[in-house]
Amino acid sequence: NFPMSVPARPPVVLSIAGSDPSAGAGLQADLLTLASLGVHGCTAVTALTVQNSENVHAYTPVDPRDTWAQARAVLEDMAVHAIKIGMLGSAAMVEAVSHLLAAYPRIPVVLDPVLAAGGGASLAGAGLREALVAELLPRVTVLTPNGPEAQSLAGLHDLEAAGCWLNRRGAQWVLISGGHGDGPVLENRLFHDAVLRRTIRQSRLSGRYHGSGCTLASALAAGIAKGLPVEQAVLAALDFTHDCLLHAYPLGKGQYFPDRF
Ligand code: PLP
Repeated sequence: NFPMSVPARPPVVLSIAGSDPSAGAGLQADLLTLASLGVHGCTAVTALTVQNSENVHAYTPVDPRDTWAQARAVLEDMAVHAIKIGMLGSAAMVEAVSHLLAAYPRIPVVLDPVLAAGGGASLAGAGLREALVAELLPRVTVLTPNGPEAQSLAGLHDLEAAGCWLNRRGAQWVLISGGHGDGPVLENRLFHDAVLRRTIRQSRLSGRYHGSGCTLASALAAGIAKGLPVEQAVLAALDFTHDCLLHAYPLGKGQYFPDRF
């Protein structure tokens, strides 16, 4: 008798994020991105948002104890190769997630510090910024703010100073994505050990997109889950995201949807 073969297993990423019914952003975006990259995505929901490609109309936070319990159910059951964190919404949710991460210090963490939706609506409760910096940054492998998020978290206008500051507050790597600037070339800045390690330039696309930050952070978590070193995972995730946006499609009345297929 031949032994039964063990089926090949995909890497696993746990996404802790808010739900977006339009599936442009949030955990739906994470699952689409992860699936497209051959990674099994699990989810712990932090908030139910009511939104579409035009705007965020409302959001209801999930009880942080329920989010924590969802994540624990997954982490106790299977090997998770990376954790990707998106919208947390409140300081209480940050605290719950920080406790969770403390119990799994060896799993790499990608944190997209979501403060607002792509359309501009705030997704941040009182004290969220301060809690992210004080409690979560020390547990983060790669932080992926866009320019305004980096400036807001660090309280510094200069992006190079902000990136170094976020490193010093505990995030091992900081990738400040360049989509919010202007000019034909966008600059993504990667920091490590409070030094600007490299600037990765991409041509700027002219559209408005729903879920570009979620796509980038999930693709990065996928690369890390597959065992890529951080710098290589960053390059691959930036390429993947650029490609998704290049082929983005209009479905609704507002922002375009990244093509992750
Ligand atoms: N997470 C959720 C649940 C959201 O609703 C949004 C924006 O609408 C985001 C994250 C961030 O989206 P983006 O990838 O455009 O930064």
